[in-house]
Amino acid sequence: MHTLTATEIADRVRAGVLNPRDLHAALLDRIRRRDADIGAFLQLPEPTQFSTGGVLAGVPVAVKDNICWQDQPTTCASKMLEHFRPPYSATVVELLQASGATLLGKTNMDEFAMGSSTETSALRRTRNPWDLTRVPGGSSGGSAAAVAAGFCPIALGSDTGGSIRQPASCCGVIGFKPTYGAVSRYGLIAFGSSLDQIGVFARSADDANLLFNVIAQPDPRDATCDPSAIAKLDALPDNLAGARIGLPAEYFDTDGLNAEVKSVVMTAVEQLRARGATVKNIRLKNLKYAVPTYYIVATAEASSNLARFDGAHFTERTAADDIAALMSRTRDQFFGEEVKRRIMLGTYVLSAGYYDAYYARALKVRTLIAREFADAFAEVDLIASPTAPTTAFAFGERASDPLAMYLSDIYTISANLAGIPAISIPVGTDAGGLPVGLQLMAKRNADSSLLTAAKVCEEFSGWRNRVADGAGEQ
Ligand code: GLN
Repeated sequence: MHTLTATEIADRVRAGVLNPRDLHAALLDRIRRRDADIGAFLQLPEPTQFSTGGVLAGVPVAVKDNICWQDQPTTCASKMLEHFRPPYSATVVELLQASGATLLGKTNMDEFAMGSSTETSALRRTRNPWDLTRVPGGSSGGSAAAVAAGFCPIALGSDTGGSIRQPASCCGVIGFKPTYGAVSRYGLIAFGSSLDQIGVFARSADDANLLFNVIAQPDPRDATCDPSAIAKLDALPDNLAGARIGLPAEYFDTDGLNAEVKSVVMTAVEQLRARGATVKNIRLKNLKYAVPTYYIVATAEASSNLARFDGAHFTERTAADDIAALMSRTRDQFFGEEVKRRIMLGTYVLSAGYYDAYYARALKVRTLIAREFADAFAEVDLIASPTAPTTAFAFGERASDPLAMYLSDIYTISANLAGIPAISIPVGTDAGGLPVGLQLMAKRNADSSLLTAAKVCEEFSGWRNRVADGAGEQ
C-alpha cells in the first residue's frame, strides 16, 4: 500500500474499495519498522478522522512540525516548544481535514526551520532514505524523507529560502514552493514572514497538483494570502507547448557546482527541449547578491518573530528572580546555537547605526533581484538550474561551518526574495545513486506551469512515484 499515490488512494477510498483505517494501519506498520532508522517523524498521534469523501479522501498526509495542529505538539524541533500544544489549527491543516485527508503525524525539521540538513533539530536526527549515512536536506527534512520512504504519498513543508526544494532534491521527491501569498501562512510558526511559504512534497506531479489545489485558498486570517490570480488546473497537461526555458550563466558557471549534478541537470533540460521547449542562455547578474541579501532579511525578520519565545508566554521557562533574568536564561537554555546565531545577526542588522548599512540596503538589493527576474520572465517562461550544488552530503560535513551550510541554498534563495514560485523535480542520480533535483522557477502566479513541467519530466526521468525501499523491503 505504501506505493499508492494520493490520487489512487482518494479514488479507491471514494469508490469504497480501500478502507482508510486499513491503509493507515499498513503505513503505521511500515513506519514502525523503518522510522527508527530514518527518523522522519516527531509525533504520530491517533488520527482525528478517517474520511471516505473529499478530494483527499483517506489520504495520509505528514505535516512539518512548525505548522499548528490543534492540541497536538507543535515543536519546531526546538526545546523551546517541546511541550507546546497550539489551541488552534493552521488554515492548511483545516483545509486538509475538510478535504478528507488523514493527518498522519508531524515531521522533523531544522530548529525553527533554520538550516539545510535537519541537523539543527534539537529533538531527533533524520537520515536520508536513499543512504542512511547522508542528511535528508533541510529544513523540511522529515517531510521529504517521509514521502521518499513511502510513509505517506504527500506532505506539507515550509520554504523560506529553499527548505522544501533542497530536501526534495536530496530525497528524490518533488518539492514545490508556490508563489508567495498562494497559500495561507496562518498557523505557520513564523521565521521570515516576507519569505515564508507553505508548500508540498509528492512523488508524482499529479499528487503535487492535487495537494496544491487543496491548500491554495484565500484566507482572511492572512492578509498576504491571495491565490485569485493563479489558474489552478484540475488535470495537468503532459506537454510544455513551446515553453521558453532560460539558463542563467550565473547558475551554471560556478565553482561550487558538482560536475555530475550539472550534467544530470543539463541532460534533463535537453530532454525538455526534445519535448518542444526552447532553451536560451540568459544573464541574471544580481544573483550573486542573493545569499547575503537573504541572510540579512531572513535574520532580521527572525530576530523579531522569535522575540515572542521569552519564557513569559506559552513556552518553556527557567526559574529566575526577575523578569529580565527569566527571559535571558530561558532563551539561553532552550534555543540552539544556530537559532541564537540568527537572532544575534538579525538584531545586529536592525540596530541603530547599522540598520541603513545592512537592512535598508538589503531591501533595495532584494528589489533589484525581483526586478531582474521580472525582466527575465518577459523573455522566458521558466528558469532552470540545479536545485542544490551537490547531492545529499554526509552528517557533520557542513554542520560546523555555517557559511558552507548557507551555500547549500545558493540556487533556491532568490525565488523567496522575489516571491516567485519554484519547484524541485527529481531527474536522475549521481554515480553513487543519490538523487539530483532540477529546479524550475516561473513568474508570479504561474504555479501551474511548474507542475506541468514536473509532469513532463516524469516521462523521461523514470522518477515517477519512486520509493526508497530499504534492504528487505518490497
Ligand atoms: N536553509 C535556509 C536557512 O537556513 C532556508 C531555510 C528555510 O527555507 N526555512 O535559512
